[in-house]
Amino acid sequence: MDGKANKNNSGKFIADPVCGIVIHNILLAQESVYKGKTYFFCSETCKAKFDLSPEKYIKIKNKEKRQQ
Ligand SMILES: [Zn+2]
Repeated sequence: MDGKANKNNSGKFIADPVCGIVIHNILLAQESVYKGKTYFFCSETCKAKFDLSPEKYIKIKNKEKRQQ
């Protein structure tokens, strides 16, 4: 049995709103709650940046949702 590359594994991939990296949620080290929503980050550095100006990163994320 190999536990690698199993697409049906529990868990999910989440995008770090600061650096944009997409990582599995078990690897996400930090989280921050802003306006009732939880955001996840790959590192303390990204969390610190988000905490300084959350609106900045939320706006960037919304922009990416637009059609290209
Ligand atoms: Zn990050």
